[in-house]
Amino acid sequence: MKGATTAYRIHINGIVQGVGFRPFVYSLAKKNHLTGWVMNSSSGVDIEIIGSNEDVARFVQSLQSSPPPLARIDQFETCKIDPDHHEDFVILESKPQPGAYVPVSPDVSICEDCRNELFDPDDRRYRYPFINCTNCGPRFTIIQDVPYDRPLTTMSSFPMCPQCRAEYGDPLNRRFHAQPIACPNCGPQIQFVEKAKAPLQGEDALQSARKLLAEGKILAVKGLGGYHLACDGCNHKAVETLRFRKKRTDKPFAMMAYDLSAIEAFCEVGPQEKDLLSSRQHPIVLLAKKQGSCISPLAAPNQTHLGMMLPYTPLHLLLLEPAEGFPEVLIMTSGNVSEEPIAYTDEEAFQRLSGIADGYLLHNRPIHMRTDDSVAQIAIDRVYLSRRSRGYAPDPLPLPFETPPILATGPELKNTFCLGRNKYAFLSHHIGDLENFETLQSFEQGISHFENLFKIEPEIIACDLHPDFLATRYAEERAAKSGIPIFHIQHHHAHLAACLADNGWPDDNSEAIGVIMDGTGLGTDGAIWGGEFLLGNYSQAKRVYHLEYMPLPGGDTAIRKPARTTLAYLWKSGIQWSDSIPSYHALSPEETAIIYNQLHNNINVFETSSMGRLFDVVSSILGVCHSINYEGQAAIELENIISHEEMGKYPFQIKGSKITVDSILRSVLEDLQNGVDRGIISSRFHNSIAGIIVAVCNEIRQQSGISHVVLSGGVWQNQYLLSRTIQQLRVESFQVLWNKQLPPNDGCVSVGQLAVAAALQKKI
Ligand code: ZN
Ligand code: ZN
Ligand code: FE
Repeated sequence: MKGATTAYRIHINGIVQGVGFRPFVYSLAKKNHLTGWVMNSSSGVDIEIIGSNEDVARFVQSLQSSPPPLARIDQFETCKIDPDHHEDFVILESKPQPGAYVPVSPDVSICEDCRNELFDPDDRRYRYPFINCTNCGPRFTIIQDVPYDRPLTTMSSFPMCPQCRAEYGDPLNRRFHAQPIACPNCGPQIQFVEKAKAPLQGEDALQSARKLLAEGKILAVKGLGGYHLACDGCNHKAVETLRFRKKRTDKPFAMMAYDLSAIEAFCEVGPQEKDLLSSRQHPIVLLAKKQGSCISPLAAPNQTHLGMMLPYTPLHLLLLEPAEGFPEVLIMTSGNVSEEPIAYTDEEAFQRLSGIADGYLLHNRPIHMRTDDSVAQIAIDRVYLSRRSRGYAPDPLPLPFETPPILATGPELKNTFCLGRNKYAFLSHHIGDLENFETLQSFEQGISHFENLFKIEPEIIACDLHPDFLATRYAEERAAKSGIPIFHIQHHHAHLAACLADNGWPDDNSEAIGVIMDGTGLGTDGAIWGGEFLLGNYSQAKRVYHLEYMPLPGGDTAIRKPARTTLAYLWKSGIQWSDSIPSYHALSPEETAIIYNQLHNNINVFETSSMGRLFDVVSSILGVCHSINYEGQAAIELENIISHEEMGKYPFQIKGSKITVDSILRSVLEDLQNGVDRGIISSRFHNSIAGIIVAVCNEIRQQSGISHVVLSGGVWQNQYLLSRTIQQLRVESFQVLWNKQLPPNDGCVSVGQLAVAAALQKKI
């Protein structure tokens, strides 16, 4: 007996388009004997269902509790309506709404079903490198325009064969409306190109590429968001050659291994790390390395961790398939020379990678948006990003407030930009360091692509305070051209606001303590800030404490040479330079003479309160790192020598609003001269910084009654400092907010700029 008939209208918001939501709803409705329809609407999905009370309830319950794997439900509204008559349950064509935006899915790593078909000899897509379905495959990187439909993707030049078309049109097929659907008969193909040889296709191409890798040569591989440079991670000579040709001295290379057990041969992999490695994003995950593995020490010099990822495309799986004599782990580093952006077109790859790669594994599906691999780790109990890019972008960050259409152009290094509308921040993929023409171009193209995809016409522009940043200049030119207001936002205020927004902090004027420990950011007084204790919210931030100003001779030159910074810090602290100090020893007499002259005559000397620089200085004093060739190197290497059992710390002083640096430097030197182990000194230094932070937060709480502490800034990538500080703050009953969906480094700054500008706009 059937119960009474009932009808509901359901509206769902969130990531529900391009993720197989409608076919999912269709089969669920069919299973529950419901009639009605499902349809994509502006920013969501609308459903009407008619059926018995029990069936309707069961449908709602299962849709809410187990939506399709790629969906994210932000809002689920139901309302009872008068039952209408429907013969069947149908998927209705969506009505385009002018001005409405349709979410665009990030690229998704290959799913279990496709993986099984890939290696099934009876499947028609057996060993086809571009197998994908509604639940997986390329998205953001191939989308040229919205709505997300095949003709507006880089798949437009591949007409579907009848079989693919039938699958595409069948609501019960797992490839229903999978825009990149393809098969060996109609889809993209691979090609292998080696100098002075005829290009090879298909399986021959794949096997020749594998042979090249097995021989210890360097292969350029076209992936999802750009080219990788690959070589055998256990072949020392190959890794050395790659470093030399790519002009990359020390910065760690990312690696890829076939499956979890292959990764476990090289690294410690906990349960959360397994989940992260196999998540739909498949980021590079930083994992503690096991001793005595065959991986070349040059893969990640002076590191305790390795950046590992699993194959995320069918092509990767085929390329890494285990076999006798084939490498167990590949270096998979971005296809570029040094600091240029990753190559993503074939012409670019041939042009820029010709001096590096011995062969190319290409394919003819164009990449529309260049996107780097994301980098993450498990910190304490949380996924903690250091680069949010492929697999994450362009998923919007839900904001705890409404925002007008704003463009925030972000910082200079590790640039991302961000566009706001409604209650969403559309944070871009990783753009890189805006220091060369190629990156600037990629930044400008990215902005116009995002504006078009998400239908955002900025009415406000937000940017950094620094007048010379390319991102600031771009912002100023655009604001002037379109006559719209521009807000220049202090870098560390942006860090605070980004972390607040990331944690869903309301825009109700409640304040938090911002412990912004960072490398570099221009302060409102013209000095270079970076060791800041702020008290504020989205609309304003007061600088209540900071590291005392220390001299930075030559600005950027000193940043690249921590030994130089060290001499300046010692000079300011009244500590005699001597040969017993490794930093002094590491510099030539000419260099020390220049620094002496600069400091004494105050030539080109900047003042800085940067915490990043203090880490550099201690790293150099201990002889760990005197000059860097990638950002953060000295601090990272200092963290890597820590001796974890040591609990000691150094005394420090607070004078007015300033935390003095010289007592810490003196203690470090004293320990060094007494022959204390460098690992123990490094621990004591880290413990001291955690201690200072807790003490200063206590001071601020006493004065203000505020006990929420926000941790943001690049220094918080330091795992040891992060966990020690959070632990101690919690013991003292502080509520700690740290980044959840955004990286703590400058990758989050554009979101903060947007949040501050939105708040300031409301006040006008
Ligand atoms: Zn799939
Ligand atoms: Zn086909
Ligand atoms: Fe920063």
